[in-house]
Amino acid sequence: MNKLFLIPLISISMLLYSCSQKHKITMPGIDLSNLDTTINPASNFYLYANGGWLKKHPMPSDYSRYGAFDKLQEDNDKLVHALVESITETKNQEGSVAQKVGDFFLSGMDTVEIEKEGISPLKPEFARIMKAVNIEDIQYLIGYYHSMDITPLFDFSGEPDSKNSEMMISHLYQGGLGLGDRDYYVNTNAHSKEIRSEYLKHIKKMLSLAGFDKESEVWPNIIMNIETRLAIASKTRLELRDPESNYNKIKLSDVQELTPNFHWSGYFKTIGLSNPGDINVGQPQFFKEVNKMLKDVSVEDWKAYLTWSLIDETAPYLSSAFVNQNFNFYDKFMTGRKTIRPRWRRVLVSTNHTMGEALGQLFVEKYFPPAAKQRMLKLVENLRLALADRIKKLTWMGDSTKEKALEKLKTISVKIGYPDKWREYSSLQINRNSYLTNVLNGRRFNVAWELNQINKPVDHSRWEMTPQTVNAYYNPSNNEICFPAGILQPPFFFADGDDAVNYGAIGVVIGHEITHGFDDQGRKYDKKGNLNEWWTKEDEKRFTEHADKLVKQFNSFVVDSDLHADGSLTLGENIADFGGLNISYTALQNALKENPAPGKIDGFTAEQRFYLAYAHVWGQHITDKEKIRLTKEDVHSLGEYRVLGPLENIPEFYKAFGVKPGDAMYLSEDKRAVIW
Ligand SMILES: [Zn+2]
Repeated sequence: MNKLFLIPLISISMLLYSCSQKHKITMPGIDLSNLDTTINPASNFYLYANGGWLKKHPMPSDYSRYGAFDKLQEDNDKLVHALVESITETKNQEGSVAQKVGDFFLSGMDTVEIEKEGISPLKPEFARIMKAVNIEDIQYLIGYYHSMDITPLFDFSGEPDSKNSEMMISHLYQGGLGLGDRDYYVNTNAHSKEIRSEYLKHIKKMLSLAGFDKESEVWPNIIMNIETRLAIASKTRLELRDPESNYNKIKLSDVQELTPNFHWSGYFKTIGLSNPGDINVGQPQFFKEVNKMLKDVSVEDWKAYLTWSLIDETAPYLSSAFVNQNFNFYDKFMTGRKTIRPRWRRVLVSTNHTMGEALGQLFVEKYFPPAAKQRMLKLVENLRLALADRIKKLTWMGDSTKEKALEKLKTISVKIGYPDKWREYSSLQINRNSYLTNVLNGRRFNVAWELNQINKPVDHSRWEMTPQTVNAYYNPSNNEICFPAGILQPPFFFADGDDAVNYGAIGVVIGHEITHGFDDQGRKYDKKGNLNEWWTKEDEKRFTEHADKLVKQFNSFVVDSDLHADGSLTLGENIADFGGLNISYTALQNALKENPAPGKIDGFTAEQRFYLAYAHVWGQHITDKEKIRLTKEDVHSLGEYRVLGPLENIPEFYKAFGVKPGDAMYLSEDKRAVIW
């Protein structure tokens, strides 16, 4: 089930997971060998700050993007791995969290058994699909697969009501696309055409591997036709960024009226939700098309599509033939990754998806130092004060909006390290026999857990990321920021490090997440997390004028010969990076008043170290293919632009590194945005 409304620091789809580690860091935090001092910082600060690091850390073949962020995850994975291994070596009590984590991992590593099984674990499912004779049977199968988080046709999930944030409600959302993004199906450029042609070949190969030799001649086109119809009816990524136009809460009877060909009460019964309550139909146009397709598309064609959904979504847990072909298409072809990750890392990802909090609990016990939480709480409060200062001084915003913004800021709640209340896993069945069975048991368990929250008050103690995740998020419905233990480590957080470096790295991350409450999307939610106009028209207009400057600036970045960065798609993240830098800089200045800096360290002032620490977080290698893919799909800018973009708008940065008119990083004052 998708987390539709979460705003992470970096896209979740690209993340592996990690755990935290006890670090005793006494170094200042700026490693001079990371720099390339042959480059003028005013020409390209990204390369100046990262050139040395990029040379020292060539791109590993199993990555399509590799930076300081990824390296931290990789290092953590090794620790997580060691702990899981130690669990598997001990005799754990049947039914305990350790038994489940250990057995899940071992079943995933048992390649002898997995190879022996081949496609056989899916055979009963194929038989189930083939038995369908009418559209009612097809609808039953859609519900049946949704209950195990295999998601043909559309997505269903439980999320907070955007206009009554205390209640969890049902959400219906567009979905059902193997390629993920609707544009790949409808764009006519050469790149999209190549993707479609490779996708057809990929479907054909997978069907053949699964024993559908004869069908593999005709099914790929049938599947493509179904997905293309869904894609045409889907909104673009940019359109999905407008929360108001994706809010359409209606009664079940109205959903039934919107889509008379779909038997909704049967669907909800099948997925195990006795009372779905009112439903947010995110994209009514999409569901109207689904309704039409239920009439136009034949039962036999639906069977092809359902079979493909099942194979496509379970391929990573099947034998090597499926795993490799799945990698060849989604990773090698789509992202330019050369080799597949070691098996243990892939199985860890899947362990984390299945029972992340069980694993998180074991790791926090072992690795998370309570002192880190105290230091973070203090940092967060300093950042909050800094933004309050800045809001009061804003010249573009009127007093009444300022007052509301300050209230919202004061109300933001903070989660650090790990949840106060852990999830319960006692009814989850895991054993060493079958990896795929374990994965599907886990998915059923997690879907049931989420469905059980629908039509009930929101549980504010719930975490949307596991503690071992190297990431952070703002949740607009809860008006909360969350920093899992995984990110509270170098190069983000140095427990005993230099203030300038901590404010430049984790400080900006905190500021980034806080700013999400005030970016072009987040500003539409009030302090209680409801979509609600609290801005005057005048202030809204001025906000948009400044935001448009950022859009133009990012649109001008050239990714590839004929591809520019997408300033509109990435606007929320760019506002958050820009705001995060400004807020954390102000907080650093406040901290320096209390504890004056020791002066220059390694030849750099506190201000210079602040910007260097920030830039280092986003230093990364990236393949050409991944650049193109992320520019299309990711709401976050590429690492280089996360550095260059916001800094070009910041006069304090100009001062710290002597940026002058004529320098590549110099933007004339009228082109610079002033937001938070
Ligand atoms: Zn963000």
